[in-house]
Amino acid sequence: MALKTLEIIKKRLEERPKEIEKARREGQKVVGWQGYNIPEEIIYALGLIPVRIGVGGDDRMVEIGARYISTKNCVFVRETVGLFAENNDPYVQNTDILAFDATCLQTYRTAEIIQYYFNKEVLILGVPRNFYWPEAKVYFTKEVEYFTRRLEKQAGKKLNYQILADTIGLYDRIRNAIVTIYTYQAAAGNYLSWEETYDLIHAGYYLDRREYLSLLEQVLAELREKQGQPFIEAVEGEARIFLSGSVLPPGDKKLIKIIQEVGGRIVGDDLWSGLIPYLDVKIPENSLQGLAVGYLNRTPHGALPYLDLDTDRRIKRLKELIQTFKAQGVIYHTLRYCDPYTFKAKETKDILQKEGIPLLEIHTEYAGSDFEAIRTRVEAFVEMLKNRYDEEVAV
Ligand code: SF4
Repeated sequence: MALKTLEIIKKRLEERPKEIEKARREGQKVVGWQGYNIPEEIIYALGLIPVRIGVGGDDRMVEIGARYISTKNCVFVRETVGLFAENNDPYVQNTDILAFDATCLQTYRTAEIIQYYFNKEVLILGVPRNFYWPEAKVYFTKEVEYFTRRLEKQAGKKLNYQILADTIGLYDRIRNAIVTIYTYQAAAGNYLSWEETYDLIHAGYYLDRREYLSLLEQVLAELREKQGQPFIEAVEGEARIFLSGSVLPPGDKKLIKIIQEVGGRIVGDDLWSGLIPYLDVKIPENSLQGLAVGYLNRTPHGALPYLDLDTDRRIKRLKELIQTFKAQGVIYHTLRYCDPYTFKAKETKDILQKEGIPLLEIHTEYAGSDFEAIRTRVEAFVEMLKNRYDEEVAV
């Protein structure tokens, strides 16, 4: 049975667009943002309302977006542009400023298109290509400082560093709660599925962050009461799947639905729309430099180039997470024209193969025409994982 708090969250999400409209009428400003490296803490600490924009899974919206941005861009960014062209999404309608980071250059391009065609005020946060260089720290700190000065103009006030410190504390608690909830969803006798966890993450894109933390803590309290201490183990009859690759934004449920229909159980992910942004965030000091360094030290986004696979933190984290969640195989999802993740599919497969972890790449877009073809491949993969489990137990 679904947790009671999930019902409360559903209701709050229905009410949220009207609340944001009201807040704007009363003079608050809304910052719609997209990317991986925007330190949202700054937006919130300035009294602006942060909302993460971008959804997926709607081919019609992709078509609309393609009237403005090249069809050689991924469907996620085309759909984002489509949202602005159609202007029906309540969160898109209610943004005063937009903030994009340049982690993925297609996101950066989206920002330019939205500014040009839809006359929106857009802030760009520059992102170093190589996070490991000392120069990257200097550059990103300066970018974060410049970003903050521009947000201060929008907010009509200077950043208060005591409020920033409180906000960093709030966000740390949100991140910790999400990481703990992931452990519960992957455990035996779970009361919360991966899909529900994923929806829970996306609820945090829209709800006020203080309320969001309180709801996450309620979810955790319910889980502790029902499930006790989570214990993660692979059990007979399960095909435990780890999801990696391109973004799966709110609304893009095609692959998730297929995996569940054919009897697979998703137990973890390293998606930038999933767990990975909440992991390994350690803000060393309550300052803009501290935030910049904390964000730089997270697992880098797959869109950033990194050639030495033996020292690649992204790969290292992927292997660790597969182990933590006791996953038996990886489904690596690539969106058409998502070049960063598509190029990395083969190397990721080769690396995991050496560890005995099978990887299935699913290359897709938002149209439903490939549904059956994907289903057949995922079904065979799930069967193979179940058979492997039986063989390993029999040895
Ligand atoms: S990483 Fe891939 S899916 Fe994400 S915005 Fe860039 S191209 Fe699109």
